[in-house]
Amino acid sequence: MASDQSWKEKYLQELESADNREKQWQAERNTLERMLVRTCLASEGQAPELDRLLVRIRQDLRKNRVDVDTWKELQDQIDRQVALLDEQPPGNDRIPPVSSDSVREPAPQPAMAPQPESSGQEETVPGHDHDIQDHVQRLRIARRVGQLLGHLLTQVSLEPEAETRARALQQSLLTSNDWNELRDGLNHVAELIIAAVTRSKREFEAFLKRLDERLVVLQEHFSLQSSAQSGRLHASEALDREIRDEIERVGQQLQESGNLKDLKKSVSLHLESIGQAVGRFRIQESERERALADQLEAMQKKVAAMEAHSEQMQEQVRTERLRAMTDLLTKLPNREAWQERLSFEYNRWQRYSYPLTVGVLDIDLFKRINDGYGHKAGDRVLQLVARELRDRLRATDFVARFGGEEFVVLFPETKPADARMVVDKLREHVGKLPFHFRGEPVTVSFSAGLAGFADGDTEESVFDRADRALYQAKDAGRDQVVIGGQ
Ligand code: GH3
Ligand code: MG
Ligand code: MG
Repeated sequence: MASDQSWKEKYLQELESADNREKQWQAERNTLERMLVRTCLASEGQAPELDRLLVRIRQDLRKNRVDVDTWKELQDQIDRQVALLDEQPPGNDRIPPVSSDSVREPAPQPAMAPQPESSGQEETVPGHDHDIQDHVQRLRIARRVGQLLGHLLTQVSLEPEAETRARALQQSLLTSNDWNELRDGLNHVAELIIAAVTRSKREFEAFLKRLDERLVVLQEHFSLQSSAQSGRLHASEALDREIRDEIERVGQQLQESGNLKDLKKSVSLHLESIGQAVGRFRIQESERERALADQLEAMQKKVAAMEAHSEQMQEQVRTERLRAMTDLLTKLPNREAWQERLSFEYNRWQRYSYPLTVGVLDIDLFKRINDGYGHKAGDRVLQLVARELRDRLRATDFVARFGGEEFVVLFPETKPADARMVVDKLREHVGKLPFHFRGEPVTVSFSAGLAGFADGDTEESVFDRADRALYQAKDAGRDQVVIGGQ
């Protein structure tokens, strides 16, 4: 039992001391890790590659994923980087380790204060620890400014020349150890920021100007459009409203937003929706135009049909009138046509007083033809005589069938004596026409009375005189022409 007891105690003691050792070890490890983190932080800024490795160490520590093999590799890489640092000539383009003696000593000056050129020459005096720390501090500031400058360059756009200068400056801020160079560089940063701000202000102003011009053009276009046609009033008003709303929203954005990039994006979106509204309006417009064009075409067709119809009607009226004015049997103008023409020529005679003669012709003993050879033979005689009259008279003369076997002629610009010669020739010609009825030769003659218009005459008075002259010719034995006296 006693040995059991002692074994148990021993065991418990051993357990406790193991536990304490574990705790001790853990505490030591934590302290070491914290120290390692601080060492890493303190060592940063010597070289970018080294910084990367140190960051990696800190991350591994923080995430508690320390892997011995990986860390051995890391250690090798860090050793290489440190060796490289040691090989660098002092004051070149790398920050030397804080403990190194090869630091060039800067004069204690405020980092951003402009310096006269000459003072830079006196700053390279090797100094004690405090000065070295001061130098490292300044280099840190320069690196930080270099990073900020890099960030700034991604945010703003510079003129290409300024951009190149800025990039070179950033490079030297990040890598140079030459305090003179760094100090000048820091001074340049201020100029660059001013240049960047000025450029972005100018760019913004130019952008607003372009925007304004585009909006003016749009507004002009639509005020023209909306006044163009009253039928389009509704669509135009809707579009106008849509555009005004968009422009108002743009105005609000302009006031609210301070960020040029966002502002551009927003304004572009608004312009796009204005463009879409315009597009919709144009489509509606062309649809309206197409509908109008269709209506117009339909109307044109109707008009064309009506025109054709009206022409047809006019033609019909002309035909009707001609028929009404034409003698069916002889196709000569009839008595109505005669009256119309007589009035017309009488009016002209009254105005111009040119000679105008009226002739009345009557076929001699026509009743005998009808009686002897039949009514059809009589008709044939009427037709043939009518044809001779039409063919042999001048185009300016006017001949009509007055009724029965009686014809009337108007001789414009012709004195009765001249008309008489024409009618006599006609009479002789008709007398020689070789009529044959029932195998017998038949002679056809006519008698005529002529009368010329004279002062105080009316249509009727002249006609009466010609008619009386005709009866004188009949009385005198027929087949002759008589000119009526006053
Ligand atoms: P005159 O020399 O005195 O004129 O003798 P006429 O026989 O010609 O005169 P009258 O007036 O006595 O006879 C005219 C005849 O003409 C009478 C009529 O029947 C005939 N007549 C009138 N119109 C037509 C017609 O359209 N066709 C035919 N075939 N005969 C007609
Ligand atoms: Mg007669
Ligand atoms: Mg007769």
